[in-house]
Amino acid sequence: MPELPEVEAWRRALNDPVSAFPIEQAGPAHIATLKTFDPPLSALEGRRFAGAERRAKRLLFPTEDGELVLLVHLMSAGRIRYLLAGEKSPKTAAFRLRFQGGGELVLTEGGPKKRAGVWLLTPEAAEAELDHLGPEALGLGEQRLGEILASEPRRLHSLLRDQRIISGIGRAWANEILHTAKLSPFAPAQGLSPEQVSQLAAAIDSELERGLELRERGAKDAQVYRVHKKLHEPCHVCGTPIEHVDFEEHTIFYCPECQTGGRLLKDRRLSRLLR
Ligand SMILES: [Zn+2]
Repeated sequence: MPELPEVEAWRRALNDPVSAFPIEQAGPAHIATLKTFDPPLSALEGRRFAGAERRAKRLLFPTEDGELVLLVHLMSAGRIRYLLAGEKSPKTAAFRLRFQGGGELVLTEGGPKKRAGVWLLTPEAAEAELDHLGPEALGLGEQRLGEILASEPRRLHSLLRDQRIISGIGRAWANEILHTAKLSPFAPAQGLSPEQVSQLAAAIDSELERGLELRERGAKDAQVYRVHKKLHEPCHVCGTPIEHVDFEEHTIFYCPECQTGGRLLKDRRLSRLLR
C-alpha cells in the first residue's frame, strides 16, 4: 500500500509533466475505477492541470482554471506513471489520460480486484470528499500530536493508521515509526509520557522524510523498510530478531528488545477467542 512517502514522491515526479500541456483526451477508465459520471471525463479535454497535489494518500490534479479537480486514490495495488510521447504504454490501463504533445498519464492496477479510484469533481466536491481526513502526519509536531493522543483511547499502531485521526500513515510506516520511537505497537495512546510523545513526533517526521528521500531516488521496499516485513532479520539497532504479531487484520512487525522490554506480543485475535 503506498503511504505518504510513496505518494508524495509520485506527486513530485508528476507535478511538472502533467502541467506541461493541455489535456487532449481523458479516459477511457475502467468501469470500477471511475467513481463519478458528472461532470464527464471529457470535461477535462482542452484544459490544463495546474500541477499535482497530495492530501493523505490521495493525488489531486486541479485544473488551471480552478473549475475541476481530478482525484486519484491508488489503494493497495494501483500505480500511476507519466509516459513520454512514444514511450511504450501498457495495453490495459484502469485509467488513461493523453496530453497534447503525446504524453500520457496512466493508472494501472495489478491483480483481479479493481480498488483504485478516479473521481472528477468540482473543487467544492473535492473538499467534501477529503473532509473526513485528519491532519497530515508529516510536520504534525509534538503539541498537536500530544493533544490527539490524549483524546484517543486507542493502541498506538491502530491510531497511527486511522486516516480520520492522522493522515498519510499505513501499516508499513506505522511499523517503522514505532520502532524508531522505541514504543510498543500495543501501547495505549493515552498512557504516553511527555518524553514519549516527543519521541513519537520526532519519529513520525524522521521516518516519513527518510522514506520520501529514498522513494524519490527510486528505492524498493526491501531497501526502504528496516522493520516492516523483516521477520527474524536482525534489528538494525540492537541485532535482536524482528518479531511479528497479528492485530486487527494486520501483521505488525517490531523489535522486542527496542520496543517491548523483551516481551513477545500475543496475538490479540487468538487470545480474545480463548478468553
Ligand atoms: Zn532492536
